[in-house]
Amino acid sequence: MMYVSTRGAAPTADFETVLTAGLAPDGGLYVPQAFPKASPPVTPDYAAAAADILANFTGDAFSRDRLGEMTQAAYSSFDHEETAPLTQVGDEDWILELYHGPTLAFKDFAMQLLGRLFDDVLERRGERLTVIAATSGDTGAAAIHALAPCRNAGVVVLHPEGRVTDVQRRMMTSIDAPNVLNIAVDGDFDQCQAIVKALFANRAFAEQVRLSGVNSINWARLAAQTVYYFTTAAKLGGGAPINFVVPTGNFGDVYAGFVAKQMGLNVGRLGVATNANSILHKALTSGSYRPEGVHKTLSPSMDIQVASNFERLLYQAYGCDGAKTAEMMDRFGRERDLQIPADVLDLISEDFISEAVSDAQTLQEIKSHYERTGALIDPHTAVGRVAAKALRKAGKLSGPVVTLSTAHPAKFPDAVEEATGQTPALTDAWSDLHERPEFMEHAPADADAIASVVSARFG
Ligand SMILES: *Cc1c(COP(=O)(O)O)cnc(C)c1O
Repeated sequence: MMYVSTRGAAPTADFETVLTAGLAPDGGLYVPQAFPKASPPVTPDYAAAAADILANFTGDAFSRDRLGEMTQAAYSSFDHEETAPLTQVGDEDWILELYHGPTLAFKDFAMQLLGRLFDDVLERRGERLTVIAATSGDTGAAAIHALAPCRNAGVVVLHPEGRVTDVQRRMMTSIDAPNVLNIAVDGDFDQCQAIVKALFANRAFAEQVRLSGVNSINWARLAAQTVYYFTTAAKLGGGAPINFVVPTGNFGDVYAGFVAKQMGLNVGRLGVATNANSILHKALTSGSYRPEGVHKTLSPSMDIQVASNFERLLYQAYGCDGAKTAEMMDRFGRERDLQIPADVLDLISEDFISEAVSDAQTLQEIKSHYERTGALIDPHTAVGRVAAKALRKAGKLSGPVVTLSTAHPAKFPDAVEEATGQTPALTDAWSDLHERPEFMEHAPADADAIASVVSARFG
């Protein structure tokens, strides 16, 4: 299994390179040269299923036994025996609970595994890396909890100051470890993400600290996220195609569903559910992909305008033409405006449909879900539920629909409380979170300033 860059000007790379490099050297994103084929797992054991599916992507980077050990270790950190349990909430409606990992959001699925893959590769090579991530709230905690135990990796996390919830911030900053560096950036998530890109582009700095990435542009993360699409299909059985509705920010999780479909899984349509940051919804309905300012919403992990992984979809929709993708992305970088031609949009619309959801609808859904089922859902999940219902009502979805529940309600207590009057309890492992001391640096939204802070620790 070899990988190519969406911008067509990087050498083909193996899994190990793709894992540790993050971004391709031509500024593009790695994608497999051809999608491997896989079937829904027969084993009910999530970790075993994960090893089977991931073996399609890892080439000869790990032995099959070693891969199995690492998936077992990664998913034993989850507090539900099914790892990704499926709950029926209506006639043909399910919720896929992806928040039973150590930091209570779906990011743990990829990150717990990535931490282990990284450590294995680095140990073998006798190398050290500095992993950097920008976070809209959940990636950072997941990365820190996955990488803090690594002997061979430092981890730097940039979060937009004041734009993540207290619980999200504390889950990142309450770890005191020499290889963990939290930076609160005076800016929004898109600025954090742009700074990470700028730091990679600064070759001298990137080489000095041996910079590497685990943002959702990292192919290994997407590969890890295909697994729960497969295990869900196995649980629901064959027959009708299964539709998935996915609360979306950076287009990573929903793209993983698309990858599962390319791998032969019987997926129907993929519903892109956005909050008021609806650039993707607008792009998918009008063909105009044009970021505005970031709106602060009740679902902050999706307060994103530029959805990095969208480039992977465009590349494929353009017939895997790297030169054309590079030209489009360059123009987008300059003009912040991208027009998707009608024929390309038609192709995309065969797989993807979308809906944008307001904060008022989000609160209403948390409330009505609680009144109907007695269960609390987090605001991101609520965005997904509102979109699933609207898309079904509009006739765009029929048959089984699975909405991905991407975070535990206790991660977003204010929204849940506002909607229901109930305070969702943190899990036992986190019950003293608000008493723990915090460790972080502060910096302006400036790549050079942040490079100095990082060099001071890891240079
Ligand atoms: C990251 C995140 C999302 C969005 O996922 P993408 O892969 O960026 O589309 C949705 N919900 C929660 C809770 C998240 O943490």
